[in-house]
Amino acid sequence: MADAKIKELCVLCGQAVEITGFSLTTNDGVQKFCCAGCLSIYQLLNGDKTQPTITPLLTTKK
Ligand SMILES: [Zn+2]
Repeated sequence: MADAKIKELCVLCGQAVEITGFSLTTNDGVQKFCCAGCLSIYQLLNGDKTQPTITPLLTTKK
């Protein structure tokens, strides 16, 4: 059998994830993203479901 590479698709935009590292643990499991931008947008949209395993790229204003 061919060991075809299984490419993860970005949860947000659907593009193939070429670089690993942009992942986020949520209540639904680990979500993969293609870039830091998609990751941060997902966090903004799903802030209540995500878990603080990754330091947000956007600094929180206090
Ligand atoms: Zn993306």
